[in-house]
Amino acid sequence: MEHRIDQIKKQLHAQSYKLTPQREATVRVLLEREEDHLSAEDIYLLVKEKAPEIGLATVYRTLELLSELKIVDKINFGDGVSRYDLRKEGAEHFHHHLVCIECGSVEEIEEDLLGDVEKIVQRDWGFQVKDHRLTFHGICKQCQEGSVQLKK
Ligand SMILES: [Zn+2]
Ligand SMILES: [Zn+2]
Repeated sequence: MEHRIDQIKKQLHAQSYKLTPQREATVRVLLEREEDHLSAEDIYLLVKEKAPEIGLATVYRTLELLSELKIVDKINFGDGVSRYDLRKEGAEHFHHHLVCIECGSVEEIEEDLLGDVEKIVQRDWGFQVKDHRLTFHGICKQCQEGSVQLKK
């Protein structure tokens, strides 16, 4: 955890930003809930537990800054809610997601499956790919097996 905080601090410094206590509280929530895909409001409520004086606008601004710096990725799973997802350490590309249309669970694929696709895009369209998003919508293993887990 401290190591990740340190790394994020360095990423901010490299762009002449400081890891203020408010930003740090936000980053800690993102690290603690790394498996989740939280909305700005979810994050705000969790940050507030650590830093009661923090406002929603500050949390929003921090999340916007972190996405600009590619420390977090903003994602929308089609429900109209923007969610924030910490980029994996050292990852050049945003990880892929498997979203279950029955129970709403979200699984992550860290391995980059799109390397070859990117090459084709660059070759045939002359487009320089910097990043991509890949979300599969379908039915997870648990739901296929019939043991539906209720989403919290
Ligand atoms: Zn994710
Ligand atoms: Zn499911």
